[in-house]
Formats: sequence, C-alpha cells, structure tokens
Amino acid sequence: MSTTVSPPVSFEFFPPNTPVGDAKLKDVVQRLGEVKPEFFSVTYGAGGATRDKTLATVSAIALAGFEAAPHLSCVGSTRENIAEILATYRTQGIRRIVALRGDLPSGTATAGEFRYASELVSFIRETQGPDWHIEVAAYPEYHPQQRYAARDLQHYVHKVKAGASAAITQFFFNSDAYFHFVEETQRLGAEVPVVPGIMPFHNFGRIAQFAARDGIEIPRWVTLKMEGFHDDAASIRAFGLDVVTKLCERLISGGAPGIHFYTMNQSELTLELCRRLKLG
Ligand code: FAD
Repeated sequence: MSTTVSPPVSFEFFPPNTPVGDAKLKDVVQRLGEVKPEFFSVTYGAGGATRDKTLATVSAIALAGFEAAPHLSCVGSTRENIAEILATYRTQGIRRIVALRGDLPSGTATAGEFRYASELVSFIRETQGPDWHIEVAAYPEYHPQQRYAARDLQHYVHKVKAGASAAITQFFFNSDAYFHFVEETQRLGAEVPVVPGIMPFHNFGRIAQFAARDGIEIPRWVTLKMEGFHDDAASIRAFGLDVVTKLCERLISGGAPGIHFYTMNQSELTLELCRRLKLG
C-alpha cells in the first residue's frame, strides 16, 4: 500500500463558443472546484482566434473564486499585441500564464515577431517581472515537428532557462517516456516541476486522432481492446478509467509534482479519476 501524498491538481478548458457552452462550463467549474484545484487553465486559439473568449472565460473562473491561468500563444503576434494582452491580464489580477508558441493556421503568411515560446517567456519575464508564474509546454514523446530528440530537449531547456516556473506536458500514456524526459531535462539543467498532462478517454476515436497527429503512442493493447468494444459505452468507460487511473498511480508514486487534466470541458470522468486517486 502506497503512503504517497497526493499532489496538487489543475484542470484545462477551452473557451466555449455558444451561450449553452458558457452555461455548461460554469457548472463544470463548480463541480471540479470541489476538488480544490490549484488552478484552472483556459486555452488560446492559434493566431489569437479566441483572444476575447479566453479572457472572458478566465474572468468568469476568477469571479467564481478560483485561480485561473490563461494560455497565450505568440506565433503570428507582434510585441505590441502581446504587451496589450498581458496588460489586460495584469489589470485583472492575473499573474499566472501558460506561454506557448502555438501553430499558425495553414495558409497564414506571417509568423509575427516571436518564433518560439522561449522568446515569449523572456518577453513576459522582462516586461512583467518576477512575480508571474509562467508555465510552458513539455513533450515527453518529443514535439511532433522536431526530428531530433536531443535538439528538442535542448530547446525545452533553453525555454525553461528563459524564465519558466514550471511545465505541463502534452498528454501521454507511457509513463517511462515521462520519467525519462524529467531525468534528461534535469541533467541538462532544467530544474522546474514537470506536471503530467492527463487525457481521460472522453472519446477514444478523437483521442486516437489527436495522438496520431501529435506523435503520441497509445499502446497497441489499449487500442485493440478499445476497438473491440465497438459501441459498448459502459465497457469503454470502465476500461478507459482503469488505464488512466493506473497511469496516474505510477506517475504519482514516481514523484510527479501535480496532475493536470485535459477536461474537454466535461467533469464526469475527471471527477471519477480524482476520486479514485484521492486527489484534492
Ligand atoms: P516551442 O517550445 O517554441 O517549440 C516548438 C518547436 O520549435 C519544437 O519542435 C522545438 O523543438 C522547436 N524549437 C524551439 N526553440 C527552437 C530554436 N531556438 N531553434 C529551432 N527550433 C526550436 N496551442 C495553442 O494554440 N493554444 C493553446 O492554448 C495551447 N495549449 C497547450 C498546452 C499544453 C500543456 C501543450 C503541451 C500544448 C499546447 N498547445 C496550445 C500546443 C502548442 O502550441 C503546439 O504544440 C506548438 O506546436 C508548440 O508550442 P510550444 O510552446 O511547445 O513551442
């Protein structure tokens, strides 16, 4: 029996784009709030597509009494755009942010004034000072656009040294990849906490598509078993919960400093995982 202390938990949302989605998210925030998360984060559409919606969602979460961290991606933006957004957040009392490069929507011509997330991290540190908590993205199975693992690790370390406070990983199902990433990046001098990003199996088909696009391995035995359930939603739910619970147990007992759930704006599976893992 494990005596490991439960690590803090955080939850990620995307900004809803309908009034029904807004109302649903309010309810999801209340339900997940019962777990007493360290913070909720809200994604930011590539190229600023959700700029106002991200801000509105973050404000609504803060108003409900929880810490909220907006994501901010820099590709396609000017320094002036980014400075303006940071100033708005500062006025709202926000001091925590997830700093990303993002991906330009295809067909977009201009890359803007930031090439990599490390440049955004430096910019936030220089302009906002030491009190901001800056999270960056980490990829235990490497970033899909980087052919050479060693280079990806060096770029990550450079990004951390530019002023990151912590990292949140891309979702993964292979705990060895996570522990190897943490060990390697620490050896290279990046000492910040690396919080695993966990994707419950909300919808196996969609998650398999994301995984194929982003170079994330879903173990063959998990895929085959899920596919074998066909439309049996109860078996898919039960098996998915077991797989993700065991993954989190391994991560927590191996010393993961927190768990960040990709909620897809739903509370049910995430709450069940928190209950099983005694998080919060
Ligand atoms: P970077 O750290 O800049 O890395 C991008 C690529 O460039 C990597 O291949 C890296 O190896 C390479 N690289 C870095 N520095 C250099 C250098 N100096 N020279 C050469 N190559 C270099 N996207 C959104 O649009 N909105 C979101 O809200 C969002 N949230 C996310 C949250 C998390 C936790 C994660 C893991 C990802 C999120 N993403 C989001 C996706 C992310 O924007 C993409 O994965 C994007 O392709 C890379 O962003 P990054 O910040 O990791 O980039």
